[in-house]
Amino acid sequence: MGILEVKGVNKRFGGLQALGNVNLSVKENSVHAIIGPNGAGKSTLLNCLVGKLIPDTGSVMFDGQSVLGRKPHEINQMGISRVFQTPEIFGDLTVMENMMIPIFAKRDGAFRMHAIENMMAEKDVVEAAEHMLEEMNMADKRGMHSASMSRGDKRRLEIGMCLAQEPKLLLLDEPTAGMARADTNNTIDLLKQISDERDITIAIIEHDMHVVFSLANRITVLAQGTPLVEDDPENIKGNPKVREAYLGE
Ligand code: ADP
Ligand code: MG
Repeated sequence: MGILEVKGVNKRFGGLQALGNVNLSVKENSVHAIIGPNGAGKSTLLNCLVGKLIPDTGSVMFDGQSVLGRKPHEINQMGISRVFQTPEIFGDLTVMENMMIPIFAKRDGAFRMHAIENMMAEKDVVEAAEHMLEEMNMADKRGMHSASMSRGDKRRLEIGMCLAQEPKLLLLDEPTAGMARADTNNTIDLLKQISDERDITIAIIEHDMHVVFSLANRITVLAQGTPLVEDDPENIKGNPKVREAYLGE
C-alpha cells in the first residue's frame, strides 16, 4: 500500500473526459513524477487529490483515509501540502513575514494573514520561521521584499512555506515552469535535498524531462486522461509507448 492510493478516478468537464479510470500508487518516501503531454489531465488529477475538484467516481486514499468529500484545508491538515504552478507568496510582505504565515496556520488550523506586529510578538513563531529560513538557506534574505526576488528564490520560499507545515506528502505542479536553467537546477538540488533529509514523499507533475530524470524514482505517464505506464525511470526512458505519446503532442 502506498501513502497515496488513487483507484478508478474519472472526471468529466461536460463532454470532455479529463480523467478516465486513473490508478496511481505513490510509495512512502519516494519521489514520484507524473508526466504527460499538455492537456493529459495532470493538473486535474492533482486538483482531485487536494479537494479543489471532486472526482465523478473512484477513490483517493491518503495515509489510510479517504480525502474525498473533504475541504482543501482539511486535506492540508491531513498532511498534504501543494506548490502551485505560479508562486503563491504574499509579494508585499518580506520573506520572514511570509514564512510566519504557515507556522501560524499549523497552530491555528487556518491559512490567513495576521497583523505583522502581532506575528512578530509571538516568540515561538518567530523562532520557528527563522529556523525554517535557515534550513532553506534564505536567512540572509529574511528582510527582503518578496516580490523583488528571482523566480527561483520565490519558489524556494514557497516550498519552505509548505515544509513549515510539516507535510507527509508534498505535491508540486510544474515547479520549474518558466524558470531559467540556473533556477531550475537550484530547484532540482533543493528538492533532492528535501527528499534525502526529510521523512517526506514528493509527487511532482513535470514537463521538463531533465527535472523528471534528475529527481524521480518512479514515474507515471498520463496520456489523454489515462495512465499509459507506471515504472522506474530507466524503463520509462526507452519505452516506445511513452515516446509516441510525446511525439503525438
Ligand atoms: P495538464 O495539466 O496535463 O496539461 P489539465 O488537467 O489541465 O491538463 O487538463 C486536462 C483537460 O481538461 C484539458 O483538455 C483541459 O482543457 C480540460 N480542463 C481542465 N480544467 C477544466 C475545467 N475547469 N473546465 C473544462 N475543461 C477543463
Ligand atoms: Mg497542468
